[in-house]
Amino acid sequence: MTRTFAPEELIRTENFIGGRWVPASDGARFAVTDPADGKLIAEVADSHVADARAATDAAAAALPAWRETLPKERAEILRRWHALIVANQDALGALISREQGKPLSEGRGEVAYGASYVAWFAEEATRVYGDLIPQQHRGKRMSAIKEPIGIVAAITPWNFPLAMIARKIAPALAVGCTVIGKPAEDTPLTASALVLLAQEAGVPPGVLNLITASRGRGIDAVGDWLQDGRVRKITFTGSTAVGKHLARESAGTLKKLSLELGGNAPFIVFDDADLDAAVAGLLVSKFRNGGQTCVCPNRVFVQAGVYERFTALLAERVSAMKVGPASDASTQIGPMINSKAVDKIARHVDDALTHGARVVTGGKRLPELGPNFYAPTVLADANSSMLLCGEETFGPVVPLFRFEDERQAIEEANATPYGLASYFYSNDMKRIERVSRALETGLVGINEGAISSEAAPFGGVKESGYGREGSKYGLDDYLSIKYLCQGNLV
Ligand code: NAP
Repeated sequence: MTRTFAPEELIRTENFIGGRWVPASDGARFAVTDPADGKLIAEVADSHVADARAATDAAAAALPAWRETLPKERAEILRRWHALIVANQDALGALISREQGKPLSEGRGEVAYGASYVAWFAEEATRVYGDLIPQQHRGKRMSAIKEPIGIVAAITPWNFPLAMIARKIAPALAVGCTVIGKPAEDTPLTASALVLLAQEAGVPPGVLNLITASRGRGIDAVGDWLQDGRVRKITFTGSTAVGKHLARESAGTLKKLSLELGGNAPFIVFDDADLDAAVAGLLVSKFRNGGQTCVCPNRVFVQAGVYERFTALLAERVSAMKVGPASDASTQIGPMINSKAVDKIARHVDDALTHGARVVTGGKRLPELGPNFYAPTVLADANSSMLLCGEETFGPVVPLFRFEDERQAIEEANATPYGLASYFYSNDMKRIERVSRALETGLVGINEGAISSEAAPFGGVKESGYGREGSKYGLDDYLSIKYLCQGNLV
């Protein structure tokens, strides 16, 4: 029988190192609070260099035995982990909502999404094939085999506290790597709960290690991993600035990196689009997690012929959205993660207004709900001089840019150093073909706003990073290829 945990039982406040829950070596702790009301949820271990080092030691000790387990043995453990995550979906979802602020339905949805990667990689674990290379010389056999890369450091952001770390741990464990992880300061509890379930699933001691840390100390702790030659891979999801920092600082030991970084997604609505479908797609892609997702549209380009109609349709839906704490089941938009996030949104909106934007709906903080709430907002007459055109707003703000023709839309959509996701709506088959090819992003939604799937390769181009998560490609980042040449066979 798969065990279910009471919500409070899922809360772990220590580090998980070598199969044991242990406090930070100097006993330090930091507070985790509910972004809706600032109330304390728990105080957790505030790790530093010694804790990071202990995690690496444990992962190094566990690696030789783990990499020798059979793929089907690792798959079985991942399947048990998946079953536990699914069995505890409600409690995990509530914990996500509590520490991160997303509505309860989205918290549950994230659990299902994260679990889908675990199930996927449980299957993929048994399908890591090598190659027998066609014979080149008599008496020589040449082959290529794939091996686990070694110790993997996983560093994750707060916006999907379960899914982001699940889709890193699962492929790493699937191929026989050991893992050291550090979740974001704002949301460590979900990651710890996930690790608790991995322990329950039978992941052996040292194979999976997790340390939690506050921002400043976390940088030092991760810094130790960057310098440590035993750590062979960094898998990171977060901002482009931090991704570049990790690449620079780890260069001394030439680690393999997967960087899932920031975006500045364009969403293009052509004159020939189904406007109702485009509005529905925009609502799904933009307002999930209050606009705090890396793939959410940051710039919405609408062709002149449908601009006014689209704006009106969108505003009607956005102004009806229910904002509130995650604990209220009717909430559609929760609090932003912290006050810094709300300040950035307000700065973007104020800047847009001084550069000629017009508020169609929203455009203000909601202090009556709490300091971290911001109203779902539609801004018309956006232009490229505005801050929100160049930077991720990471909030519930839709700026509407007007364009005249396809060439202009593509040029403006691509006029960013980022290249994670893009979306467009059109009913013209030839245009669909042209625009799909022209957009410089790793993911393209065509008449579709919900594009993520464990079966599809997720990742960016340009300054949105490199590496792919999920799909049949998702294991490659955790493997190295070894060439074997056997001679004197005849
Ligand atoms: P972030 O500031 O880059 O932080 C991500 C992680 O890195 C956190 O664990 C953070 O710890 C840690 N960190 C921060 N500075 C560090 C440093 N100097 N050295 C080592 N670790 C460091 O990003 P975020 O604000 O949490 O997340 C939002 C960003 O993530 C957005 O840009 C979003 O687009 C991106 N994102 C990308 C994807 C994707 O798949 N491409 C998915 C989700 C989010 P602390 O929390 O303690 O600072």
